[in-house]
Amino acid sequence: MYISTRGGSAPISASAAIYKGIAADGGLFVPEEIMAFPDELWPKLPEMSYKELAKTIFRLYLDDFSEEEIDRVVDKAYGEQFDDAEIAPLHAISGNRYILELWHGPTAAFKDMALQALPHLLTISMEKQAGAKEVVILVATSGDTGKAALEGFADVDKTKIIVFYPNGGVSNIQRLQMATQTGKNTFVVALEGNFDDCQRGVKEIFGDKEFNDFLDKKGYRLSSANSINWGRLLPQIVYYFKAYAALCRDKVVALGDSFDVVVPTGNFGNILAAYYGKCMGLPISTLLCASNKNKVLTDVIGDGHYDKRREFFRTSSPSMDILVSSNFERFVFELCDRDANQVKSLFTALDKEGHYQLPDDAVKKMQSIMVGEYAGEEETLAMIGEVKGTDGYILDPHTAVAVKALAKYDAGHDRGGKACVIDSTANPFKFNKAVYDGIFGENASADMDEFEISASLSEKTGMTIHRGLADLDLKPVLHKSVVKKDEMKEVVAEILK
Ligand SMILES: *Cc1c(COP(=O)(O)O)cnc(C)c1O
Repeated sequence: MYISTRGGSAPISASAAIYKGIAADGGLFVPEEIMAFPDELWPKLPEMSYKELAKTIFRLYLDDFSEEEIDRVVDKAYGEQFDDAEIAPLHAISGNRYILELWHGPTAAFKDMALQALPHLLTISMEKQAGAKEVVILVATSGDTGKAALEGFADVDKTKIIVFYPNGGVSNIQRLQMATQTGKNTFVVALEGNFDDCQRGVKEIFGDKEFNDFLDKKGYRLSSANSINWGRLLPQIVYYFKAYAALCRDKVVALGDSFDVVVPTGNFGNILAAYYGKCMGLPISTLLCASNKNKVLTDVIGDGHYDKRREFFRTSSPSMDILVSSNFERFVFELCDRDANQVKSLFTALDKEGHYQLPDDAVKKMQSIMVGEYAGEEETLAMIGEVKGTDGYILDPHTAVAVKALAKYDAGHDRGGKACVIDSTANPFKFNKAVYDGIFGENASADMDEFEISASLSEKTGMTIHRGLADLDLKPVLHKSVVKKDEMKEVVAEILK
């Protein structure tokens, strides 16, 4: 069963937690118990496939789903749409480091790992909770999430997805990725405004009781594909088991020996999944939380003071440009020994005063689980060039933040030469400008558009452009509508007419 981190919700089933997304008291749903990976399966782990691992782990946490339902979710989520049979393959580089490539899904970013599964988890949850209703997913996006959600929900029965993005506020590649989206249930709308306007509009629609009643009569139920939904977190635990399985299978470590993990972190979902994996029995020794110049997490791991009252920087790793990491609340819940009252007062303070101080015990516990380090802009771009030179491997800027943070951590600490898994969260072609300049020098890409940069990067390095990003300029644009800020509700009503 699932409970709220703020204590205001009676225990509910997995399907109810996924269907609701967020608890009524503003807290996040967490499992009453973090389950152990089954004892009898450890000896088999090295040979288990991604799907077998996903089914095993989903079964531990989705107890009101039937075995058949779980099999169906996993078989649909991790199939042919991934271009590598391992789903999340490891690529070895020097120094006993292993890049865990989480971008082999359709949109070239790690959001696919969860968003390929969520639609199926959600439709089954909806069926159990609300009967015959059709799910309508509303998304406000600044770029990546919108496309990954569209790709996940496209042509999934009994769902529609409507994505709003700021007109002129996303890169040309991101815009075309969305505007060329196929699927008869997908709708993409450009808004004359910025990302905050999109988010505000979507929030207003969710909060509009009259409108929701109107939709209810028509058989629709609004929902979100938000990164705090348990249905997005659960699938992310799987690839940590897969990474360890591959290390054991390839005899890099012996089964039972520990390994280290580095995660480029934004909203804290990815690294939280690693922590849950550790609680389930994965022998993770050093768990490094890597931040970019927006290093609110490095700071809180350092002294227990979470402070969002600071300058916000736009960096070359935009998916990590975050000052309020929503999923951190689930971690704090564990650090406070599941004392929901304490969590509630800390996060109320964050809301009202913009900061909070974790109690001493919680800080000690946090520092025994996780370390933090960050990389600045120049260091990050330099690391892209460095790894290309030493290992012939191309990092995207988010992954480069992680590699640089590890290098900085290693300069002051001895990890004992342990194998280290570094999460790679985007294909380099997705953030091609930073990658190009990192490899060929500052301003090397200055006179090229995004497509020219990709073509040149591919030609000069021999790396193939990710299939989700190639030929975007040749595909038909299927979504052309541009609307004003105050027209969002009408647009939704019109689509659902
Ligand atoms: C979302 C994202 C991240 C951050 O992941 P969190 O789970 O939010 O910490 C990092 N890199 C890329 C490319 C992403 O899309």
